[in-house]
Amino acid sequence: MSQTKVNYQNGLIYTMRERGTQNIFYVGSTTCLRKRRNKHKYSSKTDNRRIYTYIRSIGGWECIIIEELHKFPCNNKQELCLEEGRVQKEYIAKGYILECGNIAGRTTKEYKQDNKEYYSNYMKKYSEDNKEKLKEYKSNYYNNNKERLNERNKERVLCDCGTEVRRNGIPRHIRTIKHQKWVESQN
Ligand SMILES: [Zn+2]
Repeated sequence: MSQTKVNYQNGLIYTMRERGTQNIFYVGSTTCLRKRRNKHKYSSKTDNRRIYTYIRSIGGWECIIIEELHKFPCNNKQELCLEEGRVQKEYIAKGYILECGNIAGRTTKEYKQDNKEYYSNYMKKYSEDNKEKLKEYKSNYYNNNKERLNERNKERVLCDCGTEVRRNGIPRHIRTIKHQKWVESQN
């Protein structure tokens, strides 16, 4: 099999959101959304990077929707990455919380250099100022989070098929005949 060259004329920007909500939590770029989706799906079960642990925390692969945002025909990876970074910043500015480690278009090295001094000073000052608070925070974090997650799971959300479901009922709902029929009608 010959290696096919990546055609950046097929470049596009896509988003990931929680099914039944407008909670967009990821902006990415690719030249083939179908292949990219399959890769994400596989990683969502095994990978420990932030985006995938986040996906598992909201119920797993079946609870997310990947959608094309816009096409971006370009000439190389760098151009596509810059557009991805531009859109990521746009979403962050609008108040979305993106579950990606870095803004695209900057190398990790650049990122670290920009932030190294700032963060080391910041963290040092922060932990000095907040010793007690941090202690308390650590011990409360788990319990608070547990409550917050429970509350969240009880929220009712509207599935794309038109059914109202509890957030933690989504994985089960996905397997119902009603939802499956809707999925078929979309193809
Ligand atoms: Zn449904």
